[in-house]
Amino acid sequence: MDRQNWLIGQKKKDLLRQLTPITRSARGRLLLQGHDHSPLHDFSSNDYLGLSLHPDLIAQSHAFLDLAGCGAGAARLMSGDLAMYHLLEKEVAELKGQEAALLFGSGYMANCGVIPALTGRNDVIFCDRLNHASIYDGCTLSRAKLVRFRHNDMDHLEKLLRTQRGRGEALIVVESLYSMDGDRCPLREVVRLKEKFNCLLMVDEAHATGVFGDNGGGVSEEDGVASRIDIAMGTFGKALGSYGAYVAGSQSMMDYLVNRARTFIYSTGLPPAVIGASLAAIRIVRRQPELRLDLFEKVAVFKSALRAGGLTGLGPSQIVPVVAGESGRAVKIARALRDQGVFVTAVRPPTVPQGTARLRFSVTRHLSKETVAQAAALLISALRLH
Ligand SMILES: *Cc1c(COP(=O)(O)O)cnc(C)c1O
Repeated sequence: MDRQNWLIGQKKKDLLRQLTPITRSARGRLLLQGHDHSPLHDFSSNDYLGLSLHPDLIAQSHAFLDLAGCGAGAARLMSGDLAMYHLLEKEVAELKGQEAALLFGSGYMANCGVIPALTGRNDVIFCDRLNHASIYDGCTLSRAKLVRFRHNDMDHLEKLLRTQRGRGEALIVVESLYSMDGDRCPLREVVRLKEKFNCLLMVDEAHATGVFGDNGGGVSEEDGVASRIDIAMGTFGKALGSYGAYVAGSQSMMDYLVNRARTFIYSTGLPPAVIGASLAAIRIVRRQPELRLDLFEKVAVFKSALRAGGLTGLGPSQIVPVVAGESGRAVKIARALRDQGVFVTAVRPPTVPQGTARLRFSVTRHLSKETVAQAAALLISALRLH
């Protein structure tokens, strides 16, 4: 089939993805370019704590920009190893309760670099079915045998470990908070299994860093298992309001990755302005637990309004999935909400399984309690109408 026909086919199935240029008009609001409407409330952002606009991030970003210029100028193993990276890595390691940390260009690059550095042809990777695309791409690049277990199903994981563990390296990869379902991984149980079967464990905390744990260290901190995780990965692009990513673990693990992770070795270091923002963000999440409390008050208002409207299964986090069924219905409801001032994305296959297209609401501190309550009411009526 040629590309043009493929695109037409996708459109017919309500599966065509399209870019929509936006401008941010005010805190938590956006304008769609070319559409004639008032600003929409953004329920699609991962800027959970509202840090992207925090004055400390902006000031530290300016300061590092003035100090070191726009770009690193080289990969870190060439002449690009700015001292500020080491400062940030030290603070990340402390946040994550690990010995050391290493920065990557993005979360996508971290997953695509770390997994193939740790496993190869004779090894096996145990992967939760709902893991992020970047994890699956890392697995493919590794050429290791891929064994997928049912989402959060520890009995299934144990059974597969018993039969497929093999004699080579075995790596278990999970997310601590799943991005499309908003549910948490039973990390304590995963840690028990990884120790029982002598595997490495990698935990992607993209959506949990800054949001869970007394210091914002993520679900691994909250569950008290941080030090038993071999590779703790997370991004600066979500709750931390910046860009880039990190991996934390033992010093020898980081030394190994510096030598083996190709997405680290063959890529330019992050820009100074980005490092400034990330450094300020780490300090804020460690020192200001009140930001998390404020976020979860808003989450509670949103969920109780949805529950009052009869919805259930809303999960334990700031990510609230509302399953609509077929793609067409999800798209229609998202459009209706957009017409009423609420921006939410319809998440469709292949991102989620067939027949479970959903509206993925994420609550951020940018939104007021009134706004989240109103949006919940609009959603309840839209679900009745469509
Ligand atoms: C967003 C995300 C990533 C990718 O992180 P970026 O920094 O945006 O590249 C990786 N893993 C998970 C689970 C994510 O949600």
